[in-house]
Amino acid sequence: MTIQQENNQVKKNYINGKWVPSERYSTNINPSNLNEVIGYFSEANKQDALDAIMAAKDATAIWAGTGIQQRSDILDNIGNKILSRQVELGELLAREEGKTRAEAMGEVHRAGSIFKFFAGEVLRQSGEAIDSVRPGVSVTTTRSPVGVVGIITPWNFPIAIPAWKIAPALAYGNTVVFKPAELVPASAHALAEIIVEAGVPAGVFNLVMGEGKVVGDILVKHKDVKAITFTGSVNTGRAIAVEAVKNMKKIQLEMGGKNPAIVLDDADIDLAVETCVQSAFYSTGQRCTASSRIIVTAGIHDKFVKAMQERMSKITVGDALSESTDIGPVVDEKQLVQNLAYVEIGKAEGAELVCGGEKLTLAKTGFYMSPALFINTTNDMRINQEEIFGPIATIIKVKDYQQALAVANDSEFGLSAGICTTSLKYAKHFQENIQAGMTMVNLPTAGVDYHVPFGGTKGSSYGSREQGSYAKEFYTTVKTSYLSA
Ligand code: NAD
Repeated sequence: MTIQQENNQVKKNYINGKWVPSERYSTNINPSNLNEVIGYFSEANKQDALDAIMAAKDATAIWAGTGIQQRSDILDNIGNKILSRQVELGELLAREEGKTRAEAMGEVHRAGSIFKFFAGEVLRQSGEAIDSVRPGVSVTTTRSPVGVVGIITPWNFPIAIPAWKIAPALAYGNTVVFKPAELVPASAHALAEIIVEAGVPAGVFNLVMGEGKVVGDILVKHKDVKAITFTGSVNTGRAIAVEAVKNMKKIQLEMGGKNPAIVLDDADIDLAVETCVQSAFYSTGQRCTASSRIIVTAGIHDKFVKAMQERMSKITVGDALSESTDIGPVVDEKQLVQNLAYVEIGKAEGAELVCGGEKLTLAKTGFYMSPALFINTTNDMRINQEEIFGPIATIIKVKDYQQALAVANDSEFGLSAGICTTSLKYAKHFQENIQAGMTMVNLPTAGVDYHVPFGGTKGSSYGSREQGSYAKEFYTTVKTSYLSA
């Protein structure tokens, strides 16, 4: 492109109240149709990131001093604008990330609802008055903003994850530097436009699209960024934690999953199949809460495998925007190559592939693959221990509930876990004993409410919970004040 074309077409970063061009830009391609360019997006450099951090630092007093009614109104306005543009934003998201139009519209709705929830939370901020052990002394607790929050997000929920970090950050009085994933700048840019239109003062919200190792790295290391909230892979999260702690930053990491779904002999088989198909394959399996290990007791195993194969034969893979599509493409070539490599790893480990696992050639050129199901797997196989993040599920046959629970817990991850059973006894025991941050009975492991805490245990999460009123733990600091009158 010429410089003139670039100026007209390239979407810019938003720093200190201005849309700022960069020297470099990235080209965003539709994974359902590789011939379609969605747009060109500025790639921030180190200086852009530093400018954004300075602007956010300078704006902390302005935002913290903005009355709670005004802050609440702005967040509510953002939520309303997102909801009123649900169809258009959903289509953009589906074109950019590859989830189906229906899934994308659901995600946009969730993002709008989150802003409206936190508009309410602004007005519900409260402290405590606690009796002192000393006569004549009073003790109160209040919450203060943390300061500049660096927000680093992954590609698989390009509008909902930014929303569930930006909304509470702003609600509790912090300023924001937001770095979206490289693969999904269009949704991030559209969200930024809405936030700007809603009247957030200059410097309070900044968008810096660009590479993790350039822009993300500066956010993580800069002393004026007081907190980092990150969602992404375990390796990146671990590296961020090591760096962030050097400056004593608050950190909140949401990372991978290898979520188990248990099916017991007494399960409603139709419900179990639908639950497992939904959680394993929808959104192309690209959800941190997807179930990739299906643990089935011996009495129902053969019937369940047959029913899964029948159900999977009816799944349509295709263009994310086509009405007949159940599962869209994989997000990019690298992820597709990795998924197909895991199919080969599974076969080499001795697992039996009974469905899918192939690259598909469709009318439009895209990153398509058929959802894969392995049977005769054991939990020690790599396909059952490593997060694949694609439409690949395995079945592990066990003798009874106790063995199912032990296998489910034998993982370095602990995000979400489900069980399909009609037994209240097993359901309750499972909820109490499964090592996971979220438990589901007769429900998919993926698909959660927007107003309740979200997060995991073990290698899946680090730091306090996201979402709902629990978000305040991360986005505020508690002050305890003593007074003797
Ligand atoms: P990723 O770790 O590659 O990237 C995530 C973000 O980190 C991106 O914005 C990236 O640019 C940035 N980044 C990369 N290197 C960095 C560095 N050195 N310093 C600072 N930032 C850096 O993850 P991804 O591939 O975008 O997303 C997929 C992963 O996200 C999967 O592992 C999935 O399980 C996880 N995920 C987790 C949750 C959850 O809530 N637990 C939700 C969605 C996705």
